[in-house]
Amino acid sequence: MAARGILSVARSRQFKISQMRAFHRLPEDVEMIRDLCRSFADNELAPIASEVDKKHMYPKEQISQMTEMGLMGINVPEEFGGAGMSALAYAVSCEEISRGCASAGVIMSAHNSLYIAPIVNWGNDDQKVKWVSDWATGKIGCFGLSEPGNGSDAGAASTTATKVDGGYVINGTKMWITNAYEAEASVIFATTDKSMKHKGISCFVVPNNSDGFSLGKKEDKLGIRGSSTASLIYENCFVPEENLIGEPGFGFKIAMNTLDGGRIGIAAQAIGIAQAAMDCAVKYSLDRKSFNVPIAKHQMIQQKIADMEVKIESARMLNYKAAALKDNGQSYTKHAAMAKLAASEAATWVAHQSIQVLGGMGFVSDMPAERHYRDARITEIYEGTSEVQRLVIAGNVLKEYA
Ligand SMILES: Cc1cc2nc3c(=O)[nH]c(=O)nc-3n(C[C@H](O)[C@H](O)[C@H](O)COP(=O)(O)OP(=O)(O)OC[C@H]3O[C@@H](n4cnc5c(N)ncnc54)[C@H](O)[C@@H]3O)c2cc1C
Repeated sequence: MAARGILSVARSRQFKISQMRAFHRLPEDVEMIRDLCRSFADNELAPIASEVDKKHMYPKEQISQMTEMGLMGINVPEEFGGAGMSALAYAVSCEEISRGCASAGVIMSAHNSLYIAPIVNWGNDDQKVKWVSDWATGKIGCFGLSEPGNGSDAGAASTTATKVDGGYVINGTKMWITNAYEAEASVIFATTDKSMKHKGISCFVVPNNSDGFSLGKKEDKLGIRGSSTASLIYENCFVPEENLIGEPGFGFKIAMNTLDGGRIGIAAQAIGIAQAAMDCAVKYSLDRKSFNVPIAKHQMIQQKIADMEVKIESARMLNYKAAALKDNGQSYTKHAAMAKLAASEAATWVAHQSIQVLGGMGFVSDMPAERHYRDARITEIYEGTSEVQRLVIAGNVLKEYA
């Protein structure tokens, strides 16, 4: 659905906008998509999030609805079937979706940031028509960078792509891949020239029905259990020349550039989880009584509420800034890393405090607090661990001072 389509859907809906949270004004189209996503999260995602988690269930119907809303191709130019919206719109919508269901949030984020974006940013027009248009309107994609032997050290990739007549033969295994089971194609990275180390890595799009391609077992995870995570296995898997994205040897650059954008999506996911954990804690604190008063009257509970709000809003503002820099065509690597770091650490901290506010009820699955706690944890690991974000931030700061 094009941006104009989203706006007309947004206008036609009756929104119940929470009066509890004040937001400064965002651009009109961003406010509209935020309100549409907020309503969708409250009415369609939050009610199924517990079942998605308990049954490890991919939220197929809801992802189809998100496709209809334009969210599964939100930044894709309209000429290639997408909504053509901004990075800020992506950050704001991914936060709301994740607030309703963290699994839906990561499915949306991995698909948009990691599969679609590198093809839109580095592919030619034929590749965009072939590998993006259908993915902005229904098909799912995934991204294979990590391997069993290297995650943080992505430049040490051992998957190979050997040049043959008309294309490349890929051998190796990509591990931990989000959306692996639902994806119809993957953007992956493989070494075309080992002697060049990370400068010998190239980027390919590989359809998941290719000969020589198979999937590993579905991982049994602590959180975000509605999204599939599995290995992509390539055994003499042929891909035609035209599936190379960018120049040979550009793969590492494409991967790093892709992760910069991806971190805005994961920061948004973390902020959404944190907001859900906080909403749960605040509502509970107003109802639950101890010593004859609602626990919200106790100053130590109020301190937690204040600290949760500060951490969430700080992370949100950092993420808006990272997205705004990206939209302005300015460098945003440092800000995306700062937003991802702040948001993921806020999410794990807020989810921890939320359980504390609920007491015993925080520890059982009748309430969502324990799910938020489990869902939050991954945000400090994928698309670069917190340690890696600190390396990126410090590296950029040191360059600024040099
Ligand atoms: C649920 C899930 C989904 C994922 N989805 C995807 C996906 O779709 N696509 C994909 O390609 N990958 C994906 N990943 C992989 C993820 O990006 C990696 O797990 C992550 O980058 C960390 O790599 P690793 O697990 O190999 O840990 P390692 O790199 O082995 O790190 C282990 C520890 O050492 C620390 N460490 C490593 N190097 C340094 C250093 N230089 N300085 C300080 N500390 C360091 C790390 O921070 C970490 O604490 C996913 C992972 C999970 C769990």
